[in-house]
Amino acid sequence: APVLYWTRRDFRLSDNPALVAACDSGAPVIPVFICDEVVETHGAAPKWRLGLGAEAFGAALQGAGSRLIYRRGPALEVLRALIAETGATAVHWNRLYDPDSRQRDEGVKSGLKADGIDAHSHAGHILFEPWTVETGTGGFYKVYTPFWKAVRGRDPGPALSAPKIPAAKTWPESDTPSDWGLGKAMRRGADIVHPHLAIGEEAARGRLGAFMSNGIDAYVTARDDLATNGTSHLSENLTYGEISARACWWAGQRAMDEGKAGAETFLKEIVWRDFAYHLVYHTPRITSGNWREEWDAFPWTEDERRAEVKAWKQGRTGMQIVDAAMREMYVTGRMHNRARMLVASYLTKHLMCHWKIGLDWFEECLVDWDPASNAMGWQWSAGSGPDATPYFRVFNPETQAEKFDKHGRYRRRWLAEITSQPPDTATSYFEAIPESWGMTADDAYPSAPIVSAAEGRKRALAAYENRDF
Ligand code: FAD
Repeated sequence: APVLYWTRRDFRLSDNPALVAACDSGAPVIPVFICDEVVETHGAAPKWRLGLGAEAFGAALQGAGSRLIYRRGPALEVLRALIAETGATAVHWNRLYDPDSRQRDEGVKSGLKADGIDAHSHAGHILFEPWTVETGTGGFYKVYTPFWKAVRGRDPGPALSAPKIPAAKTWPESDTPSDWGLGKAMRRGADIVHPHLAIGEEAARGRLGAFMSNGIDAYVTARDDLATNGTSHLSENLTYGEISARACWWAGQRAMDEGKAGAETFLKEIVWRDFAYHLVYHTPRITSGNWREEWDAFPWTEDERRAEVKAWKQGRTGMQIVDAAMREMYVTGRMHNRARMLVASYLTKHLMCHWKIGLDWFEECLVDWDPASNAMGWQWSAGSGPDATPYFRVFNPETQAEKFDKHGRYRRRWLAEITSQPPDTATSYFEAIPESWGMTADDAYPSAPIVSAAEGRKRALAAYENRDF
Protein backbone atom coordinates (compact mmCIF):
# COMPACT_ATOMS: atom_id res chain seq x y z
CA ALA A 1 0.00 0.00 0.00
CA PRO A 2 1.27 3.52 -0.74
CA VAL A 3 2.01 6.26 1.78
CA LEU A 4 1.08 9.92 1.40
CA TYR A 5 3.58 12.74 1.78
CA TRP A 6 1.57 15.89 2.53
CA THR A 7 3.53 19.01 1.54
CA ARG A 8 2.56 22.41 2.92
CA ARG A 9 5.49 24.82 3.26
CA ASP A 10 8.35 22.48 2.42
CA PHE A 11 8.69 22.64 -1.36
CA ARG A 12 12.07 20.94 -1.61
CA LEU A 13 13.58 17.54 -2.31
CA SER A 14 16.75 18.10 -0.23
CA ASP A 15 16.73 18.10 3.54
CA ASN A 16 13.07 17.19 3.72
CA PRO A 17 12.57 14.91 6.75
CA ALA A 18 8.92 14.04 5.99
CA LEU A 19 9.69 13.12 2.40
CA VAL A 20 12.68 11.03 3.49
CA ALA A 21 10.58 9.21 6.10
CA ALA A 22 7.86 8.50 3.54
CA CYS A 23 10.47 7.12 1.11
CA ASP A 24 12.25 5.11 3.83
CA SER A 25 9.03 3.19 4.45
CA GLY A 26 9.78 1.40 1.18
CA ALA A 27 6.19 1.85 -0.01
CA PRO A 28 5.26 3.85 -3.10
CA VAL A 29 4.99 7.55 -2.17
CA ILE A 30 2.17 9.82 -3.29
CA PRO A 31 3.03 13.50 -2.69
CA VAL A 32 0.00 15.73 -2.21
CA PHE A 33 -0.58 19.46 -1.87
CA ILE A 34 -3.93 20.65 -0.54
CA CYS A 35 -5.37 24.11 -0.99
CA ASP A 36 -6.99 23.83 2.43
CA GLU A 37 -8.74 25.92 5.05
CA VAL A 38 -5.51 27.57 6.19
CA VAL A 39 -4.28 28.42 2.68
CA GLU A 40 -7.67 29.93 1.82
CA THR A 41 -7.27 32.55 4.56
CA HIS A 42 -3.88 33.86 3.36
CA GLY A 43 -3.55 37.35 1.91
CA ALA A 44 -3.32 37.98 -1.83
CA ALA A 45 0.44 37.93 -2.39
CA PRO A 46 1.38 35.01 -0.13
CA LYS A 47 -1.48 32.90 -1.46
CA TRP A 48 -0.46 33.58 -5.05
CA ARG A 49 3.21 32.90 -4.29
CA LEU A 50 2.32 29.70 -2.42
CA GLY A 51 0.49 28.47 -5.52
CA LEU A 52 3.52 29.24 -7.71
CA GLY A 53 5.76 27.42 -5.24
CA ALA A 54 3.48 24.40 -5.23
CA GLU A 55 3.51 24.30 -9.03
CA ALA A 56 7.28 24.52 -9.15
CA PHE A 57 7.54 21.72 -6.62
CA GLY A 58 5.22 19.59 -8.74
CA ALA A 59 7.58 20.06 -11.68
CA ALA A 60 10.57 19.15 -9.50
CA LEU A 61 8.86 16.00 -8.26
CA GLN A 62 8.02 15.08 -11.84
CA GLY A 63 11.69 15.53 -12.71
CA ALA A 64 12.52 13.08 -9.91
CA GLY A 65 10.19 10.44 -11.34
CA SER A 66 7.32 11.23 -9.00
CA ARG A 67 4.32 13.57 -9.13
CA LEU A 68 2.45 16.04 -6.99
CA ILE A 69 -1.29 15.52 -6.60
CA TYR A 70 -3.14 18.82 -6.12
CA ARG A 71 -6.50 18.91 -4.35
CA ARG A 72 -8.69 21.60 -2.83
CA GLY A 73 -10.84 21.36 0.30
CA PRO A 74 -10.57 20.89 4.07
CA ALA A 75 -7.33 19.01 4.78
CA LEU A 76 -8.75 16.08 6.72
CA GLU A 77 -11.56 15.50 4.24
CA VAL A 78 -9.17 15.56 1.29
CA LEU A 79 -6.69 13.23 2.95
CA ARG A 80 -9.47 10.78 3.86
CA ALA A 81 -10.70 10.82 0.26
CA LEU A 82 -7.18 10.16 -1.03
CA ILE A 83 -6.71 7.34 1.46
CA ALA A 84 -9.99 5.79 0.31
CA GLU A 85 -8.94 6.11 -3.35
CA THR A 86 -5.39 4.79 -2.98
CA GLY A 87 -5.50 2.46 0.02
CA ALA A 88 -2.69 4.48 1.65
CA THR A 89 -1.83 3.44 5.19
CA ALA A 90 0.30 6.35 6.38
CA VAL A 91 0.65 10.13 5.99
CA HIS A 92 3.87 12.10 6.61
CA TRP A 93 4.30 15.86 6.91
CA ASN A 94 6.69 18.48 8.29
CA ARG A 95 5.40 20.35 11.34
CA LEU A 96 4.30 23.99 11.36
CA TYR A 97 3.92 26.05 14.53
CA ASP A 98 1.56 28.97 13.93
CA PRO A 99 -1.82 28.67 15.64
CA ASP A 100 -3.91 28.15 12.48
CA SER A 101 -1.66 25.40 11.14
CA ARG A 102 -1.45 23.74 14.53
CA GLN A 103 -5.20 23.67 14.93
CA ARG A 104 -5.59 22.14 11.47
CA ASP A 105 -2.81 19.62 12.03
CA GLU A 106 -4.06 18.50 15.42
CA GLY A 107 -7.48 17.82 13.87
CA VAL A 108 -5.90 15.93 10.98
CA LYS A 109 -3.70 13.84 13.24
CA SER A 110 -6.43 12.79 15.62
CA GLY A 111 -8.87 12.18 12.75
CA LEU A 112 -6.43 9.97 10.85
CA LYS A 113 -5.40 8.09 13.97
CA ALA A 114 -9.04 7.39 14.73
CA ASP A 115 -9.25 5.86 11.23
CA GLY A 116 -6.29 3.60 12.01
CA ILE A 117 -3.89 5.51 9.73
CA ASP A 118 -0.27 6.14 10.72
CA ALA A 119 -0.02 9.92 10.93
CA HIS A 120 3.55 11.19 11.38
CA SER A 121 4.73 14.75 11.74
CA HIS A 122 8.43 15.57 11.39
CA ALA A 123 10.78 18.41 12.32
CA GLY A 124 11.76 20.28 9.17
CA HIS A 125 10.62 23.91 9.14
CA ILE A 126 13.00 25.40 11.69
CA LEU A 127 16.36 24.57 13.27
CA PHE A 128 15.32 23.56 16.77
CA GLU A 129 11.91 22.38 17.91
CA PRO A 130 10.41 25.11 20.14
CA TRP A 131 10.02 22.83 23.15
CA THR A 132 13.67 21.73 23.06
CA VAL A 133 15.06 25.17 23.89
CA GLU A 134 14.50 25.92 27.57
CA THR A 135 15.72 28.49 30.04
CA GLY A 136 17.56 27.40 33.18
CA THR A 137 14.26 27.27 35.05
CA GLY A 138 12.50 25.23 32.38
CA GLY A 139 10.53 28.05 30.74
CA PHE A 140 10.72 29.48 27.24
CA TYR A 141 12.79 32.44 26.11
CA LYS A 142 11.19 35.84 25.77
CA VAL A 143 14.34 37.72 24.86
CA TYR A 144 16.47 37.04 21.82
CA THR A 145 20.06 37.26 23.10
CA PRO A 146 19.78 34.48 25.69
CA PHE A 147 17.92 32.40 23.09
CA TRP A 148 20.82 32.89 20.70
CA LYS A 149 23.31 31.95 23.40
CA ALA A 150 21.32 28.82 24.17
CA VAL A 151 21.30 27.55 20.58
CA ARG A 152 24.44 28.87 18.92
CA GLY A 153 26.53 25.86 19.93
CA ARG A 154 23.87 23.29 19.20
CA ASP A 155 23.86 20.85 16.33
CA PRO A 156 20.67 20.89 14.26
CA GLY A 157 21.77 17.62 12.63
CA PRO A 158 23.05 17.08 9.11
CA ALA A 159 21.06 18.28 6.12
CA LEU A 160 19.49 15.23 4.43
CA SER A 161 20.10 14.34 0.79
CA ALA A 162 17.24 14.19 -1.67
CA PRO A 163 15.82 10.66 -1.51
CA LYS A 164 14.97 8.38 -4.39
CA ILE A 165 11.17 8.56 -4.42
CA PRO A 166 9.38 5.24 -5.04
CA ALA A 167 6.68 5.98 -7.63
CA ALA A 168 3.07 4.85 -7.29
CA LYS A 169 1.75 2.24 -9.74
CA THR A 170 -1.35 4.27 -10.35
CA TRP A 171 -1.81 7.94 -9.54
CA PRO A 172 -4.99 9.46 -8.14
CA GLU A 173 -6.54 12.33 -10.07
CA SER A 174 -5.20 15.79 -9.57
CA ASP A 175 -6.46 19.35 -9.97
CA THR A 176 -4.45 21.89 -11.93
CA PRO A 177 -3.42 24.58 -9.44
CA SER A 178 -3.53 27.38 -12.02
CA ASP A 179 -7.29 26.67 -12.27
CA TRP A 180 -7.70 27.53 -8.60
CA GLY A 181 -7.26 31.24 -9.28
CA LEU A 182 -5.01 31.74 -6.25
CA GLY A 183 -3.61 34.87 -7.89
CA LYS A 184 -7.04 36.40 -8.50
CA ALA A 185 -6.68 39.10 -5.86
CA MET A 186 -3.31 40.17 -7.31
CA ARG A 187 -5.02 41.51 -10.43
CA ARG A 188 -2.64 43.87 -12.27
CA GLY A 189 0.01 43.45 -9.61
CA ALA A 190 0.97 39.91 -10.58
CA ASP A 191 2.77 40.90 -13.79
CA ILE A 192 4.72 43.57 -11.97
CA VAL A 193 5.72 41.49 -8.95
CA HIS A 194 6.52 38.28 -10.84
CA PRO A 195 9.92 39.32 -12.27
CA HIS A 196 11.10 39.99 -8.71
CA LEU A 197 10.44 36.43 -7.55
CA ALA A 198 12.88 33.53 -7.36
CA ILE A 199 10.70 30.44 -7.23
CA GLY A 200 11.72 26.91 -6.31
CA GLU A 201 14.54 24.94 -4.76
CA GLU A 202 17.12 25.59 -7.44
CA ALA A 203 16.52 29.33 -7.33
CA ALA A 204 16.76 29.24 -3.53
CA ARG A 205 20.06 27.41 -3.62
CA GLY A 206 21.28 29.87 -6.21
CA ARG A 207 20.44 32.74 -3.87
CA LEU A 208 22.24 31.12 -0.95
CA GLY A 209 25.30 30.37 -3.11
CA ALA A 210 25.43 33.88 -4.55
CA PHE A 211 25.10 35.42 -1.11
CA MET A 212 27.82 33.21 0.34
CA SER A 213 30.22 34.10 -2.49
CA ASN A 214 29.42 37.78 -2.94
CA GLY A 215 27.33 39.12 -0.08
CA ILE A 216 28.50 37.76 3.23
CA ASP A 217 31.74 39.76 3.56
CA ALA A 218 29.98 43.11 3.42
CA TYR A 219 26.76 41.91 5.08
CA VAL A 220 27.31 43.47 8.52
CA THR A 221 27.09 47.01 7.19
CA ALA A 222 25.46 46.51 3.79
CA ARG A 223 22.40 44.89 5.36
CA ASP A 224 21.32 48.23 6.80
CA ASP A 225 21.84 50.30 3.67
CA LEU A 226 18.47 50.77 2.02
CA ALA A 227 19.78 51.30 -1.49
CA THR A 228 22.15 48.32 -1.47
CA ASN A 229 21.14 44.80 -2.29
CA GLY A 230 23.07 43.68 0.76
CA THR A 231 20.98 40.82 2.13
CA SER A 232 20.33 37.26 0.99
CA HIS A 233 16.65 37.64 -0.02
CA LEU A 234 16.16 34.10 1.24
CA SER A 235 13.05 34.92 3.27
CA GLU A 236 10.88 34.34 0.20
CA ASN A 237 12.26 30.82 -0.12
CA LEU A 238 12.48 29.97 3.57
CA THR A 239 8.82 30.74 4.06
CA TYR A 240 7.79 28.14 1.47
CA GLY A 241 10.54 25.76 2.51
CA GLU A 242 12.26 25.94 -0.87
CA ILE A 243 15.43 25.78 1.16
CA SER A 244 15.77 24.51 4.72
CA ALA A 245 16.84 26.70 7.62
CA ARG A 246 19.37 23.95 8.31
CA ALA A 247 20.98 24.33 4.89
CA CYS A 248 21.34 28.06 5.62
CA TRP A 249 22.75 27.31 9.07
CA TRP A 250 25.44 24.98 7.70
CA ALA A 251 26.33 27.44 4.95
CA GLY A 252 26.72 30.08 7.66
CA GLN A 253 28.87 27.73 9.75
CA ARG A 254 31.15 27.03 6.79
CA ALA A 255 31.50 30.77 6.26
CA MET A 256 32.41 31.08 9.97
CA ASP A 257 35.11 28.44 9.52
CA GLU A 258 36.44 30.40 6.57
CA GLY A 259 36.56 33.51 8.75
CA LYS A 260 34.02 35.46 6.68
CA ALA A 261 33.08 38.72 8.36
CA GLY A 262 29.29 38.54 8.11
CA ALA A 263 28.92 34.86 8.95
CA GLU A 264 27.90 35.20 12.57
CA THR A 265 25.47 38.01 11.79
CA PHE A 266 23.85 35.83 9.13
CA LEU A 267 23.56 32.91 11.56
CA LYS A 268 21.98 35.24 14.09
CA GLU A 269 19.37 36.29 11.53
CA ILE A 270 18.50 32.70 10.71
CA VAL A 271 18.13 32.16 14.45
CA TRP A 272 15.82 35.23 14.69
CA ARG A 273 13.47 33.29 12.46
CA ASP A 274 13.65 30.32 14.84
CA PHE A 275 13.07 32.68 17.76
CA ALA A 276 9.90 33.97 16.10
CA TYR A 277 8.62 30.39 15.92
CA HIS A 278 9.71 29.77 19.50
CA LEU A 279 7.54 32.72 20.59
CA VAL A 280 4.61 31.76 18.37
CA TYR A 281 4.65 28.22 19.65
CA HIS A 282 4.80 29.17 23.32
CA THR A 283 2.49 32.19 23.08
CA PRO A 284 0.23 31.74 20.05
CA ARG A 285 -1.62 34.94 20.93
CA ILE A 286 1.33 36.88 19.50
CA THR A 287 -0.21 36.59 16.02
CA SER A 288 -3.53 38.19 16.98
CA GLY A 289 -3.31 40.40 20.04
CA ASN A 290 -0.92 42.44 22.16
CA TRP A 291 1.65 40.10 23.64
CA ARG A 292 1.77 42.44 26.63
CA GLU A 293 -1.90 42.55 27.41
CA GLU A 294 -1.70 45.90 29.19
CA TRP A 295 -1.30 47.42 25.73
CA ASP A 296 -4.99 46.67 25.09
CA ALA A 297 -5.63 49.93 26.97
CA PHE A 298 -3.44 52.03 24.64
CA PRO A 299 -5.36 54.57 22.50
CA TRP A 300 -4.34 53.17 19.13
CA THR A 301 -6.86 53.62 16.37
CA GLU A 302 -8.09 50.41 14.80
CA ASP A 303 -10.18 52.17 12.17
CA GLU A 304 -8.86 51.06 8.78
CA ARG A 305 -10.92 53.65 6.91
CA ARG A 306 -9.03 56.64 8.24
CA ALA A 307 -7.24 58.82 5.74
CA GLU A 308 -3.84 58.29 7.34
CA VAL A 309 -4.17 54.50 7.11
CA LYS A 310 -5.03 54.80 3.43
CA ALA A 311 -2.13 57.16 2.86
CA TRP A 312 0.24 54.78 4.63
CA LYS A 313 -0.89 51.78 2.58
CA GLN A 314 -0.76 53.69 -0.69
CA GLY A 315 2.61 55.29 -0.11
CA ARG A 316 1.46 58.88 -0.02
CA THR A 317 1.98 60.01 3.53
CA GLY A 318 4.40 62.66 2.32
CA MET A 319 7.15 61.08 4.45
CA GLN A 320 9.38 60.03 1.57
CA ILE A 321 11.24 57.18 3.17
CA VAL A 322 8.00 55.61 4.39
CA ASP A 323 6.27 56.01 1.03
CA ALA A 324 9.27 54.60 -0.85
CA ALA A 325 9.22 51.51 1.33
CA MET A 326 5.48 50.94 0.98
CA ARG A 327 5.83 51.14 -2.79
CA GLU A 328 8.82 48.82 -2.82
CA MET A 329 6.58 46.26 -1.14
CA TYR A 330 3.79 46.73 -3.65
CA VAL A 331 6.10 46.36 -6.65
CA THR A 332 8.42 43.59 -5.46
CA GLY A 333 6.40 41.76 -2.81
CA ARG A 334 9.13 42.45 -0.28
CA MET A 335 10.59 45.27 1.73
CA HIS A 336 14.04 45.95 3.14
CA ASN A 337 14.26 44.96 6.80
CA ARG A 338 15.19 48.45 8.00
CA ALA A 339 12.36 49.89 5.97
CA ARG A 340 9.95 47.43 7.62
CA MET A 341 11.02 48.79 10.99
CA LEU A 342 10.60 52.37 9.79
CA VAL A 343 7.13 52.01 8.29
CA ALA A 344 5.99 50.01 11.31
CA SER A 345 7.27 52.69 13.66
CA TYR A 346 5.64 55.45 11.61
CA LEU A 347 2.27 53.66 11.56
CA THR A 348 2.19 52.71 15.23
CA LYS A 349 3.87 55.77 16.73
CA HIS A 350 3.55 58.80 14.45
CA LEU A 351 0.13 57.81 13.13
CA MET A 352 -0.90 56.07 16.37
CA CYS A 353 -2.54 53.21 14.48
CA HIS A 354 -2.77 49.70 15.84
CA TRP A 355 0.03 47.40 14.65
CA LYS A 356 -2.63 44.86 13.58
CA ILE A 357 -3.50 47.12 10.64
CA GLY A 358 0.09 46.92 9.50
CA LEU A 359 0.37 43.21 10.20
CA ASP A 360 -2.67 42.56 8.01
CA TRP A 361 -1.43 44.78 5.19
CA PHE A 362 1.95 43.04 5.19
CA GLU A 363 0.14 39.71 5.06
CA GLU A 364 -1.74 40.99 2.03
CA CYS A 365 1.34 42.23 0.16
CA LEU A 366 4.46 40.27 1.15
CA VAL A 367 5.58 37.29 -0.92
CA ASP A 368 7.82 36.36 2.02
CA TRP A 369 4.96 36.60 4.50
CA ASP A 370 5.68 34.42 7.50
CA PRO A 371 3.13 34.19 10.30
CA ALA A 372 5.76 34.14 13.04
CA SER A 373 8.31 36.69 11.79
CA ASN A 374 5.60 39.12 10.77
CA ALA A 375 3.89 39.01 14.16
CA MET A 376 7.19 39.29 16.03
CA GLY A 377 8.34 42.15 13.79
CA TRP A 378 5.17 44.15 14.31
CA GLN A 379 5.00 43.65 18.05
CA TRP A 380 8.71 44.46 18.33
CA SER A 381 8.19 47.68 16.40
CA ALA A 382 5.03 48.68 18.26
CA GLY A 383 6.44 48.05 21.71
CA SER A 384 3.79 45.49 22.68
CA GLY A 385 5.92 42.38 22.17
CA PRO A 386 8.01 40.29 24.54
CA ASP A 387 11.40 41.43 23.24
CA ALA A 388 10.33 44.82 21.96
CA THR A 389 11.86 48.17 21.30
CA PRO A 390 10.39 50.40 24.03
CA TYR A 391 7.51 52.55 22.83
CA PHE A 392 9.29 55.72 23.88
CA ARG A 393 12.07 54.98 21.43
CA VAL A 394 10.55 56.59 18.35
CA PHE A 395 12.48 56.28 15.10
CA ASN A 396 12.86 59.65 13.40
CA PRO A 397 12.13 58.79 9.76
CA GLU A 398 14.08 61.78 8.49
CA THR A 399 17.30 61.09 10.35
CA GLN A 400 16.93 57.39 9.52
CA ALA A 401 16.67 58.35 5.86
CA GLU A 402 19.81 60.48 6.12
CA LYS A 403 21.66 57.64 7.75
CA PHE A 404 20.52 54.64 5.75
CA ASP A 405 19.69 56.28 2.42
CA LYS A 406 22.34 58.92 2.44
CA HIS A 407 22.22 59.81 -1.23
CA GLY A 408 18.46 59.36 -1.65
CA ARG A 409 18.91 56.46 -4.07
CA TYR A 410 16.31 54.31 -2.39
CA ARG A 411 13.75 57.12 -2.36
CA ARG A 412 14.33 57.93 -6.02
CA ARG A 413 14.11 54.26 -6.94
CA TRP A 414 10.54 54.06 -5.64
CA LEU A 415 9.02 57.55 -5.76
CA ALA A 416 8.26 58.67 -9.31
CA GLU A 417 6.96 62.07 -8.23
CA ILE A 418 10.22 63.29 -6.73
CA THR A 419 12.44 63.04 -9.80
CA SER A 420 12.11 64.37 -13.32
CA GLN A 421 13.19 61.09 -14.91
CA PRO A 422 11.80 58.37 -12.71
CA PRO A 423 13.22 54.86 -13.15
CA ASP A 424 11.01 51.90 -14.16
CA THR A 425 10.93 50.70 -10.57
CA ALA A 426 9.12 53.89 -9.54
CA THR A 427 6.72 54.09 -12.47
CA SER A 428 5.83 50.39 -12.35
CA TYR A 429 4.12 51.09 -9.03
CA PHE A 430 1.35 52.85 -10.89
CA GLU A 431 0.86 49.84 -13.12
CA ALA A 432 0.60 47.54 -10.13
CA ILE A 433 -1.89 49.39 -7.94
CA PRO A 434 -5.66 49.10 -8.34
CA GLU A 435 -7.13 51.80 -10.61
CA SER A 436 -9.57 52.58 -7.82
CA TRP A 437 -6.74 54.22 -5.86
CA GLY A 438 -6.81 56.99 -8.43
CA MET A 439 -3.06 57.62 -8.35
CA THR A 440 -0.85 58.46 -11.33
CA ALA A 441 2.86 59.17 -11.70
CA ASP A 442 1.99 62.74 -12.69
CA ASP A 443 0.27 63.56 -9.40
CA ALA A 444 1.99 66.12 -7.24
CA TYR A 445 3.73 64.56 -4.28
CA PRO A 446 2.30 65.76 -0.91
CA SER A 447 3.99 69.03 -0.02
CA ALA A 448 4.33 68.01 3.63
CA PRO A 449 4.00 64.78 5.61
CA ILE A 450 0.54 64.08 7.04
CA VAL A 451 2.26 63.84 10.40
CA SER A 452 5.73 65.34 10.72
CA ALA A 453 8.58 63.62 12.49
CA ALA A 454 8.51 66.04 15.42
CA GLU A 455 4.74 66.29 15.81
CA GLY A 456 4.29 62.50 15.62
CA ARG A 457 6.97 61.91 18.19
CA LYS A 458 5.42 64.42 20.57
CA ARG A 459 1.93 62.96 20.24
CA ALA A 460 3.11 59.37 20.66
CA LEU A 461 5.15 60.18 23.73
CA ALA A 462 2.27 62.14 25.28
CA ALA A 463 -0.06 59.19 24.78
CA TYR A 464 2.54 56.88 26.23
CA GLU A 465 3.07 59.05 29.28
CA ASN A 466 -0.68 59.37 29.90
CA ARG A 467 -1.36 55.67 29.61
CA ASP A 468 -2.85 54.05 32.66
CA PHE A 469 -0.52 51.05 32.83
P1 FAD B 1 18.69 38.40 5.47
O1 FAD B 1 19.21 39.62 6.13
O2 FAD B 1 19.48 37.84 4.37
O3 FAD B 1 18.51 37.32 6.63
C1 FAD B 1 18.52 35.92 6.39
C2 FAD B 1 17.25 35.29 6.93
O4 FAD B 1 17.17 35.46 8.35
C3 FAD B 1 15.97 35.89 6.38
O5 FAD B 1 15.65 35.34 5.14
C4 FAD B 1 14.98 35.53 7.46
O6 FAD B 1 14.51 34.22 7.32
C5 FAD B 1 15.81 35.62 8.72
N1 FAD B 1 15.61 36.94 9.32
C6 FAD B 1 16.31 38.07 9.10
N2 FAD B 1 15.85 39.08 9.86
C7 FAD B 1 14.83 38.59 10.57
C8 FAD B 1 13.95 39.14 11.54
N3 FAD B 1 14.03 40.42 11.95
N4 FAD B 1 13.01 38.33 12.05
C9 FAD B 1 12.89 37.05 11.67
N5 FAD B 1 13.70 36.47 10.77
C10 FAD B 1 14.66 37.23 10.23
N6 FAD B 1 10.37 38.24 7.71
C11 FAD B 1 9.73 37.30 7.00
O7 FAD B 1 10.36 36.34 6.55
N7 FAD B 1 8.38 37.37 6.79
C12 FAD B 1 7.63 38.40 7.26
O8 FAD B 1 6.41 38.41 7.08
C13 FAD B 1 8.29 39.44 7.99
N8 FAD B 1 7.59 40.50 8.45
C14 FAD B 1 8.25 41.49 9.15
C15 FAD B 1 7.53 42.59 9.65
C16 FAD B 1 8.16 43.60 10.35
C17 FAD B 1 7.36 44.77 10.89
C18 FAD B 1 9.56 43.55 10.57
C19 FAD B 1 10.27 44.63 11.32
C20 FAD B 1 10.28 42.45 10.09
C21 FAD B 1 9.66 41.42 9.39
N9 FAD B 1 10.37 40.30 8.87
C22 FAD B 1 9.69 39.31 8.19
C23 FAD B 1 11.81 40.13 9.17
C24 FAD B 1 12.80 40.67 8.12
O9 FAD B 1 12.46 41.97 7.73
C25 FAD B 1 12.91 39.78 6.88
O10 FAD B 1 13.09 38.45 7.25
C26 FAD B 1 14.09 40.20 6.01
O11 FAD B 1 13.92 41.52 5.55
C27 FAD B 1 14.22 39.26 4.85
O12 FAD B 1 15.23 39.65 3.95
P2 FAD B 1 16.44 38.68 3.63
O13 FAD B 1 15.95 37.32 3.36
O14 FAD B 1 17.25 39.34 2.58
O15 FAD B 1 17.19 38.70 5.04
